Amino acid sequence: MKKYPAEPFKIKAVETIEMTTKEQRKEAIKEAGYNTFLLDSDQVYIDLLTDSGTSAMSDKQWASLMIGDEAYAGSDNWYKLEKAVKEVYGFDYVVPTHQGRGAENLLSQIMIEEGDYIPGNMYFTTTKAHQKLNGGKFVDVIVDEGHQPSVDAPFKGNVDLDKYQELIDEVGADKIPYICVAVTVNMAGGQPVSMDNLKKVKEISEKNDIKVMYDATRCVENAYFIKEREDGYEDKTVAEILKEMMSYADGCTMSGKKDCLVNIGGFLAMNDEDIYTEATQLVVVYEGMPSYGGLAGRDMEAMAQGIYESVDPNYIEHRVKQVRYLGDRLAEAGVPIIKPVGGHAVFIDAKSFLSHLSQDQLPAQALAAAIYVDSGVRSMERGIVSAGRDADGNHCYPELETVRLTIPRRVYTYAHMDVVADSVINLYENRDSIKGLEFVYEPPVLRFFTSRFAPIE
Ligand SMILES: *Cc1c(COP(=O)(O)O)cnc(C)c1O
Repeated sequence: MKKYPAEPFKIKAVETIEMTTKEQRKEAIKEAGYNTFLLDSDQVYIDLLTDSGTSAMSDKQWASLMIGDEAYAGSDNWYKLEKAVKEVYGFDYVVPTHQGRGAENLLSQIMIEEGDYIPGNMYFTTTKAHQKLNGGKFVDVIVDEGHQPSVDAPFKGNVDLDKYQELIDEVGADKIPYICVAVTVNMAGGQPVSMDNLKKVKEISEKNDIKVMYDATRCVENAYFIKEREDGYEDKTVAEILKEMMSYADGCTMSGKKDCLVNIGGFLAMNDEDIYTEATQLVVVYEGMPSYGGLAGRDMEAMAQGIYESVDPNYIEHRVKQVRYLGDRLAEAGVPIIKPVGGHAVFIDAKSFLSHLSQDQLPAQALAAAIYVDSGVRSMERGIVSAGRDADGNHCYPELETVRLTIPRRVYTYAHMDVVADSVINLYENRDSIKGLEFVYEPPVLRFFTSRFAPIE
């Protein structure tokens, strides 16, 4: 028997959730254009749309809201946040932003010039959008296993060092301002990067004068996987591992809405003083003073507290293992999922789940809609709809066509995970009845958020 640790917290405040009937849900998803992003929160029973900004804050974080210093400049809370980032992540300079993409915007504007290439271990939607808006071209350098849902490997988020070197040889290091390394890789299923790989990426980059910038969004989860899976790290604390990981980077963008356990917030951190100076010049245009970056004082205080809580050993073990529990239940019933289960979500392989549909029939979008109708569980598509169109206007066809069941931090119990598992298993047994979808409205960028669909009859 596998061991899944019980919640290392007790519940102090209760939030009631709506219960709906299947008839109501059929109507609701139709009105939402079969896009789970367009459902209202009160139509949803268990909300696994995202782990972004959906974490439950601790009593200490709620208390910290009361000591928000809402001075326009030089807020006390800013110094707390700066100290937390320096202590836990180890970078020299910090610029707060309203969320992760605010940091991505600053980084991309500062570092990318027209015609540059930005290698990365698989794309992420907002990251790639900012690179493109600044004239850069994203190049995928993740190891092949990252794209293969059924291959079980410990570090499927690793950078393929040969692919990285080939890109340098082909376009020249001067066309590559930085490599963006995501720890963990969201779009590959929350797959981690090994410490050994991070070290080698740093070596190659240093030799070629290329900066290493992490997308640190789920770096604490990544550190936990290193502790579990990489030789020599089993006796180190997650906090120590995290610090070492960060020592192989020149900086990072961070979405505080994930591993920092807050509902809003983010930052850009770096060791290079020149980049910092430029970032402080730009942040005032897009976010606010370098001492608040679009955040209220109380938000910065809550994020500082969340940063310390995120490396608590009991918290992070429960976090990763609760997600694994859901994945194990599905896998045991034969449901095709990405293996191994990553840090924040279980990804259902919708291509094999709905093997009677072609990718043009949007299998992951269709499955997400079907799960909602079955049980009121909200998930999201991560496949052809999320991948968008290429420069010629054709659909990109990602190898991974997935439905993401994303687990908010400290919000749901194991009993909730059982409701989700029972529903998905039920649908798997009746999968032939699920029809494909087609677009009826499609916006030009980040189309997955607001597109509308209709069933193909
Ligand atoms: C969420 C996320 C971002 C963007 O952060 P926001 O806070 O949503 O703006 C960037 N990269 C990854 C991997 C993410 O998951």
